[in-house]
Amino acid sequence: MQHDFDLIIVGAGLAGNCLALALKNSGLKIALVEANSREQLRHSPAGDRALALAAGTVELLNDLGAWRGVADKATAIKHIHVSDRGHFGKTRLAAEDQGVEALGYVIVARDIEQHMADLVEKTDTVCLYQTRVAGLMSGRDAINVSLKQHDGSSLNVSAQLLVGADGGNSTVRKLLEIPQQVTEYGQTALVTTVQSALPHRNIAFERFTEFGPLALLPVAGKQSAVVWTRTHEQAETLINVSDREFLAELQNCFGYRLGELKLAAPRRAFPLSLIRAESMVSGRTVIIGNAVHQLHPVAGQGFNLGIRDVALLAEMLLDQHEQHGDLGDARLLKNYSRQRQQDHGKTIGFTNSVVKLFSNDNLPLAAVRNAGLTLLDHLPFAKQLLTRHAMGLAGRLPKLGDRE
Ligand SMILES: Cc1cc2nc3c(=O)[nH]c(=O)nc-3n(C[C@H](O)[C@H](O)[C@H](O)COP(=O)(O)OP(=O)(O)OC[C@H]3O[C@@H](n4cnc5c(N)ncnc54)[C@H](O)[C@@H]3O)c2cc1C
Repeated sequence: MQHDFDLIIVGAGLAGNCLALALKNSGLKIALVEANSREQLRHSPAGDRALALAAGTVELLNDLGAWRGVADKATAIKHIHVSDRGHFGKTRLAAEDQGVEALGYVIVARDIEQHMADLVEKTDTVCLYQTRVAGLMSGRDAINVSLKQHDGSSLNVSAQLLVGADGGNSTVRKLLEIPQQVTEYGQTALVTTVQSALPHRNIAFERFTEFGPLALLPVAGKQSAVVWTRTHEQAETLINVSDREFLAELQNCFGYRLGELKLAAPRRAFPLSLIRAESMVSGRTVIIGNAVHQLHPVAGQGFNLGIRDVALLAEMLLDQHEQHGDLGDARLLKNYSRQRQQDHGKTIGFTNSVVKLFSNDNLPLAAVRNAGLTLLDHLPFAKQLLTRHAMGLAGRLPKLGDRE
C-alpha cells in the first residue's frame, strides 16, 4: 500500500527530535509534527529548567551528532554530594573513583532543545509540519492522521507507524484512549539560577530537607541551577516573596557550602505529578518519552529515560526497514513495549522511593535515610552501583546513529 510517509512523529521536544535525528539517514520518509513554532519554543519559560544528563545520555547524544555543538554550554558534574539537612548522614560520589571524566553534565534545557531543533531543520530527509494532530485512525495497513492547519482546514496524511512524542499532556495518548495512572505529589518544583560567592568546583548538591529535596547543579562560572521541591502552597509563597526573602529561605535550607547566594534568573514553578500510561502501544502507534512517563524531577531521570526509549525504538525500526518489513507490525511494537517495561518500572520505582524517602521528616524515615547515607559512604560496592545508576550506565544502551 502507498503511504504518504513511512513514519510520522508527533512532538518535536527532546524525544521526538532525537528519534528524527536517529533515523535521518535511514532512507525512511519521515514527517515531524510540532504544535508550536520555533519562536514560541525558544521563548517558553519551561526552557529555563536545567537538565542533569547522565553520562549514558551524553554518549547517546554524541552518537546522534547532537552533543558536539552544545558541549561547550554544558558543565561537567565531577562530584555528587548528597546530604540531609539537620542530620549527619551524607555521601559523596566522585567521577575519578569511576575512572571517568564526569558523572554527568548539566545543561539548560533551552540550549539542547534549540540545538536539536536546528539539526533537524537542516536535514532534508525530515518533513516538518508546524501544526496540531487533531485525529487518528489506525487501519490494517496504515495509520491515518488528521492535522489541523492554521486556517482551520484539515490535512490528512498516512504512514506505516505513528510515534507519539508529544509530552506529558499527550494528545496522541488521549486520542487512542490509552488509560493513564496519575499520582499527584502535592508538590511544585521551583526552578531558578543562583550566583555563589564560592566556586561550585563541579559539584552537584542534592540536599534533603524536612520541606522537600533541594538540588544545586553546577552551571557556567560560579552559577548553580536550583531545583527546589516544596508543597504547592510554599512554592506559591516563595514565588511571590521578594528576592531577599527567597534567598534567605534558600540559604537557610542549603547552608553556606557555596558562600552567599544571589539570584541570577527569574523563579519558575513546575507543579509535579507522575503520569504513567498503562500501555505504550495501540494499533499502529507507539508513544515514547514523557507521553508514556512523566516523572518527578528529584532524581533527574525524565529525559535520561526518554532517550533510552528512542535508542531502542530507533534500533528496532532500522532493523525492520533493512529487512523491508512493516514499521507498524504488531509483533515488532509488542516486542519494543516488552523490552522497555523493565527500565520504565525500575526508573519510576527508584524515583518514587527517592520522593517518598526524602520528602518526609518523619523521624523513623529520617533515621533510615541517614543510616543509609552514612552506610553508603562506607560501602564502595554500593556506592559504585549508585554512581553507575546516576551515570545512566546501569542498563543496556543500544548504539544510536551509527547506521546510515
Ligand atoms: C523542573 C524540571 C526539571 C527536570 N530535570 C530533569 C533532569 O535533570 N534530567 C532529566 O533527564 N530530565 C529532567 N526533567 C524531565 C525532562 O525535562 C523531560 O523528561 C523531557 O523534556 C521530556 O521530553 P519529551 O520530548 O518527551 O516531551 P516534551 O518536552 O513535553 O515535548 C513534547 C512536544 O510535543 C509538542 N506537542 C504537544 N502536543 C502536540 C500536538 N497535539 N501536536 C503536535 N505537537 C504537540 C509540544 O509542543 C512539545 O514540543 C525535568 C523536568 C522538569 C519539569
